[in-house]
Amino acid sequence: MSNWFIVEDKYNIDDHYKNETIYALSNGFIGTRGTFVEGFEGPKSKTIEGNFINGFYESETILYGEKGHAFPDVSQTMLNVPNAKGIEILVDGEACHMFTGSVTNYKRVLDMKSGTVTRSYTWTSNGKVVNVSIEQFVSMTHKHVMGLRLTVEPVANIGHVVVKSFIDGDVINDTPRTNARIDYGPYEKVLHEVERGHMTMKHKTQTTGFELITSVRHNLEGEKFETLHGVGETFEGQHIVLDKVIEYHATTDEVLNQVVLCQQSYDELLVEQRAYFDSFWASADVTISGDESLQLGMRFNMFHLLQATGRDGRTSVGAKGLTGEGYEGHCFWDTEMYAAPFFMYTKPEVAKALLTYRYHTLEQAKARAKEMDCAGALYPWRTINGEEASPYFPAGTAQYHINADIAFAVQKYFDMTQDETFFNEMGAEILIETARFYYSYGDYIPSKNNKFCLNGVTGPDEYTAIVNNNFYTNILAKENLLNAVKAVEIIGNSKLVKELKVTSDEVANWQHAADNMYFAYDEEKQLFPQDDSFFEKAIWDIENTPKEKFPLLDNYHPLMIYKKQVCKQADLILALFLQEHKYDTDMLKRHYDYYEKVTVHESSLSFCIHSILAAHIGYEEQAYDYFMKSARLDLDDLHGNTHAGIHMANLAGTWMCITHGFGGMTMDGEGLSFAPVLPKKWDSFSFVINFRGTTLKVTVSETVEFEKLSGPSIDVKLFGKTVRVGG
Ligand code: BGC
Repeated sequence: MSNWFIVEDKYNIDDHYKNETIYALSNGFIGTRGTFVEGFEGPKSKTIEGNFINGFYESETILYGEKGHAFPDVSQTMLNVPNAKGIEILVDGEACHMFTGSVTNYKRVLDMKSGTVTRSYTWTSNGKVVNVSIEQFVSMTHKHVMGLRLTVEPVANIGHVVVKSFIDGDVINDTPRTNARIDYGPYEKVLHEVERGHMTMKHKTQTTGFELITSVRHNLEGEKFETLHGVGETFEGQHIVLDKVIEYHATTDEVLNQVVLCQQSYDELLVEQRAYFDSFWASADVTISGDESLQLGMRFNMFHLLQATGRDGRTSVGAKGLTGEGYEGHCFWDTEMYAAPFFMYTKPEVAKALLTYRYHTLEQAKARAKEMDCAGALYPWRTINGEEASPYFPAGTAQYHINADIAFAVQKYFDMTQDETFFNEMGAEILIETARFYYSYGDYIPSKNNKFCLNGVTGPDEYTAIVNNNFYTNILAKENLLNAVKAVEIIGNSKLVKELKVTSDEVANWQHAADNMYFAYDEEKQLFPQDDSFFEKAIWDIENTPKEKFPLLDNYHPLMIYKKQVCKQADLILALFLQEHKYDTDMLKRHYDYYEKVTVHESSLSFCIHSILAAHIGYEEQAYDYFMKSARLDLDDLHGNTHAGIHMANLAGTWMCITHGFGGMTMDGEGLSFAPVLPKKWDSFSFVINFRGTTLKVTVSETVEFEKLSGPSIDVKLFGKTVRVGG
């Protein structure tokens, strides 16, 4: 049972900042960091109060020393919104929190079975003793709601307890700390109060003009008070159990004068929360027997991934989820290539919502393509509202693979779910418009045998920029073009095809470009270069680079990195994993051996991909080692920056290691196949997935067992042989 709980039973202030992320709660819409709501008196550098609303942002003019054509004009920053968790406890007039009196019996528990965090302690001062407990959750069933229950229980010599509960509107983003690389802010207060009422406040952003209502409902009758930036209520008694039902409503999400506040009690909401998590784990749990800390790590990863992800079709999932201001709250390709697969196999409706978000931002992507003098749609490298927000184009806009990533996820979702409504209404259009972009972007190059080339691009590896024919980009763009051809066949003579003015010549062009996509090959090395010039560069001497010079990007000018063979992260290795069925094991091994040596894994998106491919080519130890680096990355703060927010893509990557890596799970149009390997250190492992209405449990020990948990019987393949499950 213990592997359902993340427990802190000794408070160490040095872990405080990191733990604000670990104990953060969210529901894909509201996010709140695990701060001490009743008071924190440690150094400012150890805390950031953070409350976020997915999709609620402010824009500043991006400052460029030198600005080029079609550089984005304005930024998008997910805003830190009013803190409605505020509490003050006075025990016979004395402030009671973790930094006054003496504190014993401290315990903080993230309960992943019920989706709550509870922090409790006994507080003693001048012979007076109280037990304090604060339970919190962000509702998975009510998007706009989070709950907090404060219990102050008298133990000895208590006369009078006063509790103040308030909304604090005095909030700013701490940009210098959370996004040190940028110099355009926001630095000042950009969320201004426009109205206040009884336990409710309305704020408006300075530039984007978005409005936000923050409100609190208490279970007790209190006395109202106001401060310069806040509203609150005071409660008095001896034994106090105060429930706060907090709501956020934003114009980015709904029409504010139509808002209907939730009427359910704290307890009712909590019951729903537990039921939600019961059902989630029943359809998605992973178990590892033989390693308790890994077991805990896996559940933690899935828990955070689930709660990070927007699911309303209007929002995505940020690289840091809703746990911190890092990366300005932007979403990247992490969404489609890392998060979406997890949801396709566990909660397909969430995968659909993520793709729907891309559909809803197709107009912005079309405008961007135009701005770049191309046809079709070009999705932004990083964004909140669908517009490009990446000021550094070599590792930003140049990552044109974002289009093919989104197209890949659309196709995969369709193949997995056969959701024709989605495909006809949204998916096909995304495939067509992204293919149009590639066709207009690429060129047939005479010196390359008139092959179709995508020049001047950056692949996933951000340490190799603006190159010709990045293998990953070309292979996925090829798929994108082919899938667009197929899409037109599928939707036939529909209204959409007419509306989009797709001609047979255009379709023939996509086919021709795909058939003639250029891939360099080095005959001597028997390897695909990551791009045309990759093997012409000197190899970075990783071994003799002083330890303190890593991460490279913090210690070398980008040009010094770009001129060498050194990969920040899995690039060609990821392409091979995605297209593995096309290659034999020897070929995969040769590539793995080569690229593994030139990769520094300075992105958390890297370890997991190496683990997966290693598992498939018989490199079990490496598969295990890379998995270990990924599985507890945030829990153990392996990158030293968990305080800034969780590493969302890595959370999903660890799930891929278990299912696709050790589980050897693949899906072709026909169905699911498995070719598991059991790491030596484990007795067994299992995972639950959903496939076309069937919930299936796969257990790998000395043998492999399939169990149908619900839905129709299905056939799967185990090492190439068909197995009937559940019938
Ligand atoms: C990685 C990108 C990733 C971004 C956000 C960067 O460090 O290189 O691939 O999309 O982080 O996670």
